[in-house]
Order: sequence, then structure tokens, then C-alpha cells
Amino acid sequence: MRKPASEDKRRMCTGKRRYSSEGEALQGAQRAGVERWRKAYLCANCGKWHLSTR
Ligand SMILES: [Zn+2]
Repeated sequence: MRKPASEDKRRMCTGKRRYSSEGEALQGAQRAGVERWRKAYLCANCGKWHLSTR
């Protein structure tokens, strides 16, 4: 039995910290000292920003 793709997206979403803007996301990454998280993307699931490792 396959899980719907939307389930995966939601899990990816809920496991991550949310930011209200791209700038805030990047600032959050800097504050946390996580240099490899340099990009932020707008999440289609929650409408907030998450950090991406790519
Ligand atoms: Zn999200």
C-alpha cells in the first residue's frame, strides 16, 4: 500500500522549523550556525519558509 505524496510533503514540512519570510529563515540559519543551510524555500504545504540544504 502506497502512501499519498501529500503525506510525504506534510512530514517534510512538520519536521522543519518554519519562518515567516525568506530573510528570517536565512537569519535563523545564521543564528544556529548551520552554514550548509544557505537556501530557503516557500513551502506549498504551510505557506511558510523552510531551510533547504541544497
Ligand atoms: Zn511547510
